[in-house]
Amino acid sequence: MSPGPRPKRGVWWLRAARYRTTRAIAISPVLGPDAATDLDRRMMARAMDLARDAAAQGEVPVGAVVFDTQTGQTLGEGMNRRERHADPSAHAEFTAILAAARKVKDWRLNHCSLAVTLEPCPMCAGLIVNARVGRLIYGADDPKAGAVRSLYSITGDRRLNHRPAVIGGVLAAESAQELQGFFAKLREKRKRP
Ligand code: ZN
Repeated sequence: MSPGPRPKRGVWWLRAARYRTTRAIAISPVLGPDAATDLDRRMMARAMDLARDAAAQGEVPVGAVVFDTQTGQTLGEGMNRRERHADPSAHAEFTAILAAARKVKDWRLNHCSLAVTLEPCPMCAGLIVNARVGRLIYGADDPKAGAVRSLYSITGDRRLNHRPAVIGGVLAAESAQELQGFFAKLREKRKRP
């Protein structure tokens, strides 16, 4: 699926752009929640607990767990900590992936699965690809920033050199409810002087 050699004559960059866009981008599918194992669901329940902890600390409720796909051992956990750390990269799954890589002393996480309560953003989807995470299980879709299937398909793009197996919609209702509740409370707080 490589774009092939650069066209030789004419305005090459214009031709190259046309060349690229005329070819359909092959995207790997996202499986539904029925494809999740009992272990996946248990890990997602733990990620939901972390999301609730984040909400209790005034953070947007997102939680994540990285675990060994075979043994089920937890290798890294994370919750959204952007406000506390004033860190734009302190997303739940970003933190969990870094923790797991430190624990196994390897940047390659092919043998790992990531459970995260919200569809990853472009930054985190990029990290999932770069860390070679073997499987991604996520909860609610994020129509505003999702980079798995809502806005972009970074984790399923066959032009990239790694694609995790992806299952979406696991405990999605719980995750969406937690997020909606958090933002409703925030709006309420802002209304009061
Ligand atoms: Zn993110």
